[in-house]
Amino acid sequence: MDTEKTYTLQDLETTEFDGTPLAVVGHPIQHSVSPAMHNAALAKLSESDSRFKDWAYYRFDIAPEDFSRALPLFHKRSFLGLNLTIPHKVQAMDLIQGVSPDAKCMGAVNTLVWDEFGYDGFNTDGVGLSRGLEVDLGISLKGANVILLGSGGAARAAAVQCVLSGCAQLHVGNRTPARLQDLMSLLDGMSGCDHIQTFALSALPQDLPSEGVVVNATSLGLKAGDPAPIDVAQLPDGWKVYDMIYNPSATALLQQADARGLQIANGLSMLVHQGARALEIWSHVKVDAHVMMAAACHALKLPPRYD
Ligand code: NAP
Repeated sequence: MDTEKTYTLQDLETTEFDGTPLAVVGHPIQHSVSPAMHNAALAKLSESDSRFKDWAYYRFDIAPEDFSRALPLFHKRSFLGLNLTIPHKVQAMDLIQGVSPDAKCMGAVNTLVWDEFGYDGFNTDGVGLSRGLEVDLGISLKGANVILLGSGGAARAAAVQCVLSGCAQLHVGNRTPARLQDLMSLLDGMSGCDHIQTFALSALPQDLPSEGVVVNATSLGLKAGDPAPIDVAQLPDGWKVYDMIYNPSATALLQQADARGLQIANGLSMLVHQGARALEIWSHVKVDAHVMMAAACHALKLPPRYD
């Protein structure tokens, strides 16, 4: 089978996928680098463990209205693992047999694991962010001061991860107040972080501690010409800035923070580490994230990274 191709619902209905198939499922999905990352990691794993020689990771374009029909077919075709991306992460929660506690808090699943009765759901975005911050910026979420921008799906995962990790302070800002309030209600019943506050994106919180990290989980920056969501001039000198957006590789937020001399990183490490964690869940072995990073850089036509 061709792991470069984008498969459809019809392919799923008519085609047997040999060996141990895995897939990313989304709409649109054409530009996903997940197949490149995962197949590179599987090739590496199979060098030392023949069990992985027949594992392959595919890409499926499934429209939201077809997802409930597709999921039982993936199960019937014995897809061991699925990664879900926009727009399936929330809808899937009602269609699977079990959801991990942290994914339940996040309200979304991005990783499904087959068993004979159905799929179990996990969310590896929070762990991906946490590892990305460690690798790129040397930040542990435990005890960290965090300013989180956004209140969509990615921000929910990030906020829950911050609280579960025991961050010191969490300030969350969003353009639309109602959505921000939804996120705050979600965090309400959780323990792990004593100081959770909201702010308006136009006015950063006052009296910030000397060190911390801004995490951008808004989609502002995806389009050319998008402005930065906050004014980085208001951040104390010891703050660092992480933007979940990795394409473009330097948003206006990162450019302005860099010009101010703040340490910055983009979301490529989050992408790679959420993928590595998913493959660890499926394979039960430690996965080399460096191999996935190299494959992601190659697929995105970025210079190689060796961290
Ligand atoms: P989403 O659910 O659609 O949420 C979008 C967020 O962006 C909302 O908070 C929205 O605010 C805000 N926003 C959109 N346009 C804005 C504007 N003009 N000004 C201010 N805020 C604006 O999307 P998502 O799934 O959370 O994804 C958010 C970002 O994270 C995307 O760029 C995505 O590519 C990135 N991401 C990266 C990774 C990774 O692995 N690196 C993983 C997941 C997501 P309102 O509530 O006001 O609309």
